[in-house]
Amino acid sequence: MTLTISGTGISRGIAIGRAQRLDDGELEVYEAVIPKELIEDEVARFRRAVRTARQQLKAIRNSIPETTSADITDFIDTHLLMMEDSMLTAAPIELIRNNQYNAEWALKTQRDELAQVFDEMDDPYLRTRKDDIDHVVTRIQRILIGEKSPTRPDEDASLQDTIIIAHDLTPAEAALLQHQGISGFVTESGGPLSHTAILARSLGLPAIVGTHTTSLQIRDGDTVILDGSRGLLIADVDEKTLKDYRRQQREQKKRQTELKRLKNEPAVTADNIPVNLFANVELLEDIRAARLSGADGIGLYRTEFLFMNREDIPDEEEQLGHYLALIKAMKGLPVTIRTVDLGADKDCGASDKRNCPNPALGLRAIRLCLNNPELFRPQLRAILRTSAKGPVQMMIPMLSSASELARVLALIDDTKQQLKDDGLAFDRNMPVGGMIEVPGAALAAGFFAQKLDFLSIGTNDLIQYTLAIDRIDDSVTYLFDPLHPGVLKLIHMVIEAGHRHMTPIAMCGEMAGDPHYTRLLLGMGLRQFSVPPTALFEVKDAIRQCHTEKLSAFIDEILASDDPQIIHAAVDNLNALE
Ligand code: PEP
Ligand code: MG
Repeated sequence: MTLTISGTGISRGIAIGRAQRLDDGELEVYEAVIPKELIEDEVARFRRAVRTARQQLKAIRNSIPETTSADITDFIDTHLLMMEDSMLTAAPIELIRNNQYNAEWALKTQRDELAQVFDEMDDPYLRTRKDDIDHVVTRIQRILIGEKSPTRPDEDASLQDTIIIAHDLTPAEAALLQHQGISGFVTESGGPLSHTAILARSLGLPAIVGTHTTSLQIRDGDTVILDGSRGLLIADVDEKTLKDYRRQQREQKKRQTELKRLKNEPAVTADNIPVNLFANVELLEDIRAARLSGADGIGLYRTEFLFMNREDIPDEEEQLGHYLALIKAMKGLPVTIRTVDLGADKDCGASDKRNCPNPALGLRAIRLCLNNPELFRPQLRAILRTSAKGPVQMMIPMLSSASELARVLALIDDTKQQLKDDGLAFDRNMPVGGMIEVPGAALAAGFFAQKLDFLSIGTNDLIQYTLAIDRIDDSVTYLFDPLHPGVLKLIHMVIEAGHRHMTPIAMCGEMAGDPHYTRLLLGMGLRQFSVPPTALFEVKDAIRQCHTEKLSAFIDEILASDDPQIIHAAVDNLNALE
């Protein structure tokens, strides 16, 4: 019987291949007392292992093609740097010498101590660092224990048509595996924002994370299907399912090729209504993809990625450099830079856990920024200074209240005054917009529409907060439904408020990038979509095939209904229209 395992699809596409498991779970680390006379031999053994680990990583680093994004090589450089750090390399030697520990136990003891420090800090950014430490420690432990690196069963082996199943993968391992030709990967742990997930998307590798106990259920050599769009891994596949997925895979490839012809076509409906189709970007890799997709500009630049995977905060000049590079790459097309959205899943934002009992509802996004002017001001200055050089607009995430908006606008005014005093150029009319992601803000959208130059609906969070489902908790993912009547009513209210006050309304959540909703959103009056570059052609195609004049009867029925079944059926009917 077919076995279907679900997880979080983090990188679209279908891969079909042979499963290869890489992890057998936790490493068994033993404790031993080293006789005094053998202590220096043990120290030497530890040093050799660190040296070998370093050589392995350097070899991985060198085997990655030049064209690979800097984000990817940075991950490996970070691990290499950690191998130089005395916390990881010198401290275990002290433990060997002072406590007569064996090298493995000394390394484990030091790792546990560091992990505890990170746990107490309770900062998700530092938690990521903890993962990095574990990746580095595991590599050294495997060498000490004499195990083969799990990711390199045979360094020269081609892994064509192989789907990797691992408990976890480091970015370095994922990059290398991709280089060896894997078709996709599945990890039992990890979330959509992990470094490895970011990497998979950049590399265009179909991938799923968070599948829990997959390696127990799958055998090496099993033919498996990885459906990265739906987050499914299918094993014990019957002929019919296999045939069906092979057909879907062929169709997807063919369709991708065909859709490329849309690059230079306008995003205009069949009845000539122009639509703006922007791209969402996170990494430099995406900017290239955005250019290639023929986007009208950038509708969401998630600047928090600049703040992640590092110890320090990027200062004004560094941020300015990034933003200028972005507008240069976009060659005069408009760019919407979102102020940093840290907090919740991307960073706790408070170092004391008691102050942050429910991070998604706590100091996140604009709240965190207002609470940390030293974090926010350099960014405001950098964005404003960029506006002197090209068409830039600033977007504020997760607005919820009038007083908060007043504080933001006052801070922007104050920053403009500072820049003037400093003799630095900026566009005094740079548009400032806000994201509508909180149900209260959607209900009061008229207020925000009057005070701001544009609004953008962040459906990822709007759905999370409207339906009270944590977007990173896979136990409640089944409740996630963009077509929930409550969600649709809020979206409609925001669009209506925009029309009433002549304020442009965009949507930049994932819903905007799913062609299943394109006609619905056009029918509700949305005219600006910002979507991941990989989704842009699909959405453009849906726009170009849509006759908006045929939609209104369906939209009236959908918005009048509180019954999800009726709504889902009406959307299907809408999509079936010729
Ligand atoms: C959203 O919430 O829909 C959004 C675009 O922001 P993010 O996914 O970065 O929270
Ligand atoms: Mg959001």
